[in-house]
Amino acid sequence: PQNVVIVGSGQAGYQAAASLRENGFQGPVTIVGDEPGLPYQRPPLSKAYLTGKTDEEGLLLRARPFFDDRGIDVLAPERAARIERAERRLVLGSGLSLPYGHLVLATGARNRPLAVPGADLDGVLYLRTRADADRLRAQMSEARRIVVIGAGFIGLEFAAVAAARGVEVTVLEAASRPMSRALSLPMSDFFREAHEAAGLRLVFGAVVTRIEGRGGRAVAVETAAGEMYPCDLVLVGIGVMPNAELAAEAGLAIGNGIVVDAHLLTADPAISAIGDCAAYPSPHAGGRASRLESVQNAVDQARAVAARLTGSPAPYAAVPWFWSDQGSLKLQIAGLAVPHEETIIRGDPASGAFSVFCYEGERLLGVESVNRPADHMIARRLLAAGLGVTREEAADPGLDLKARAS
Ligand code: FAD
Repeated sequence: PQNVVIVGSGQAGYQAAASLRENGFQGPVTIVGDEPGLPYQRPPLSKAYLTGKTDEEGLLLRARPFFDDRGIDVLAPERAARIERAERRLVLGSGLSLPYGHLVLATGARNRPLAVPGADLDGVLYLRTRADADRLRAQMSEARRIVVIGAGFIGLEFAAVAAARGVEVTVLEAASRPMSRALSLPMSDFFREAHEAAGLRLVFGAVVTRIEGRGGRAVAVETAAGEMYPCDLVLVGIGVMPNAELAAEAGLAIGNGIVVDAHLLTADPAISAIGDCAAYPSPHAGGRASRLESVQNAVDQARAVAARLTGSPAPYAAVPWFWSDQGSLKLQIAGLAVPHEETIIRGDPASGAFSVFCYEGERLLGVESVNRPADHMIARRLLAAGLGVTREEAADPGLDLKARAS
């Protein structure tokens, strides 16, 4: 292509631009992002940024000279409003119109709003953007009692940070266990016990029906069981929705995200989609349309598209991996482990460091590790090489997995 326009200045959008230049792409590269400032990382928003261990500068993926030196234009804050596919033009909210040779949609995802009365009260917050984190940080310092709605990764990471500061934290979760959509039962159980031991109160089967306010501010959360949970701050972490409207309005197919093929291309050969917004057929999920929400996925998909645009096309097949830091617990996941038929535990959960190997039939789907980074790295290598480990081998503490993977 003559030039590349990228919508979204998140992890995926930044990486697509950086990789295009790394691969020697000479044409103009423009990133259009609706958040102010330069591309930044989200993971610290629920970790080091929340605790003040890193600042706004430390969040940035790269400082200004990186973009200037490489001739990467960052238009921000600026919203992409419409794609005119026939003319290969992106129309911005400001009215500006950008012609594109290739368009990369890296629009990410946004918080799923809590749809109950009182959800719009002051003190009901979300955590996706730096602006969200700034609000949360400011209000958190005053809070004595916090209710977190949703025991997913973000809810629990936040809850662990708040509890470590001595705040009373209650986590309300509609499902029967934490991180149920992403974790095996044994790993989920381990995290429940560990969080409870660290002082978090976790309530399962808790369907939130209403938030009570006083003077315009949230003071309690009510569940379908009729329980009231008093609080002075509520964090809602009930998942995200892909930002797919721009693509949908341009007539592109949408499933659980912007539908792309194995090369991360939409049905329009001039438009790719990557990262949190894209649903691609993953070979690690038997070809099932998968929309992953992780740094690895955003980075590797961006690299794959940049490689294709600079003459090295290949179907996208990277092994998915993910991490989440919750208090002192470091969770790592290699592969797409859920759903599975069977789990094998390697190591002793009571020691606080173990892995769960997840199987479907004879096939190793993925490995979840807590405080066992070596298992995680080995699992990534095994899955990338398509090497199996039998259940017996996985359970055998004497077996040298590392030797197996090399
Ligand atoms: P995003 O980062 O969402 O970026 C998309 C950007 O596009 C956004 O700035 C959005 O505003 C913008 N945009 C959307 N529509 C338009 C438009 N029409 N015009 C212009 N701009 C637009 N992952 C991990 O692997 N490990 C972790 O520990 C981890 N922790 C996380 C903690 C938090 C608090 C959050 C929120 C996420 C975390 N993640 C983690 C997930 C990870 O950050 C995301 O998967 C990753 O940021 C996805 O990158 P992306 O570029 O696809 O989307």
